Amino acid sequence: MSEICAVLEHTDTTLHEQSGELLSELVDIAQRQPKPTTVCAILLISQQARLPDVTLLPQLGVHHLYLLEHPQSIRYSTESYVGALGWFIQQRAPMLVATSATPNGRDWTPRLAAQLRLPFVPNCLSLALHDDGIFASRSIYEGRAYVQTRTALHGRTALATLVPGVRGAPATMQENLSSTSSLEITRLVPKIRHARGQEHVRHIAVEAPSPEEIELDAAERIVAGGRGVGQEGFSTIASFARLLDAAVGATRVATDLGWVEHARQVGTTGKIVHPRLYIACGISGAAQHTSGMSEAQTVIAINPDRSAPIFALADLGLLGDANQVLPLAAKMLWSSEANMQGQRTFRGLLSMHQIYLQIYCLTIGKRRR
Ligand SMILES: Cc1cc2nc3c(=O)[nH]c(=O)nc-3n(C[C@H](O)[C@H](O)[C@H](O)COP(=O)(O)OP(=O)(O)OC[C@H]3O[C@@H](n4cnc5c(N)ncnc54)[C@H](O)[C@@H]3O)c2cc1C
Repeated sequence: MSEICAVLEHTDTTLHEQSGELLSELVDIAQRQPKPTTVCAILLISQQARLPDVTLLPQLGVHHLYLLEHPQSIRYSTESYVGALGWFIQQRAPMLVATSATPNGRDWTPRLAAQLRLPFVPNCLSLALHDDGIFASRSIYEGRAYVQTRTALHGRTALATLVPGVRGAPATMQENLSSTSSLEITRLVPKIRHARGQEHVRHIAVEAPSPEEIELDAAERIVAGGRGVGQEGFSTIASFARLLDAAVGATRVATDLGWVEHARQVGTTGKIVHPRLYIACGISGAAQHTSGMSEAQTVIAINPDRSAPIFALADLGLLGDANQVLPLAAKMLWSSEANMQGQRTFRGLLSMHQIYLQIYCLTIGKRRR
């Protein structure tokens, strides 16, 4: 039976949240094939590692999981992924190997494609496989235009990355219907050329980037500032962004005035962003700005002017001075973290809804005073 494979990223305990939408897209592709085709998941782990929670796979109709076990896979490295997946493709010759266009996914896929001389389609919004070709819908010019491409396969395995957040998580991710009993697990030990200790890239430490360094295009959360917060307000914005592991964004006014570097500008002449949460502070909501952030899943706006156009776009509007609201909200978030008594996972768990709730409580508190 032909195989279509999804390479999933994971922590020790869970699959990354993009896994659901990647698998759903591949299941759709498999169902449209004229010949029976199965979707398989691939995880790269070290032999000693625990298997993360994979109950999602049978829920989505994926019944085969390959575990590529290798000591080099104890953490992500370009060489271990390229080596292990190169070996896997040569053994199994799947029709398609796809992954999410995350920083890691965007790192190993082109290298593997170049090494094995495979057709590769990066940053796809959707995919189809037929007539010995891979058909992709992709966005170009920073999301301002769409293009349909056809890449000839000539019988070779296709490689592709899918932009996360386009299709959205499948509904089954919230339910816990299936068990892993219907999941067939195959453990493979890939032959990787580089022995441990001979890697070209060596892992030294993991450090979270500062909010000024997180790429806007890939950011899940953005705290953005405009003229209303003033130059000093941007240090408040950066501190709040750090608390949420968010990136700092800005309007053109703020970048033109030199308060923030130009690469942080959101809008028509800046970046088009698609975060899950966009907190707009001191931003009026001019069309040239909102065209760059209107695809944010949730928008919170902080502005003292109730007629500011940004409120028309906001899911939650806070009437107030952003330079006062942000430090208060930060205090509430920190105290929540302290109350968790050392559960350092809190930051990871900090969902939009918690932030919502905290800031909402804050406004209620202010109104009562
Ligand atoms: C060709 C062209 C391209 C452009 N491209 C872009 C682009 O890519 N991106 C972009 O952003 N702009 C762009 N602009 C500029 C755009 O038209 C707006 O001028 C700009 O977005 C406004 O920035 P702002 O919201 O920071 O400032 P303003 O419009 O001046 O708004 C400031 C807001 O802050 C509020 N405020 C005041 N004090 C506080 C406080 N203490 N706390 C909270 N809020 C407060 C005010 O009520 C006001 O609503 C472009 C313009 C042109 C002509």
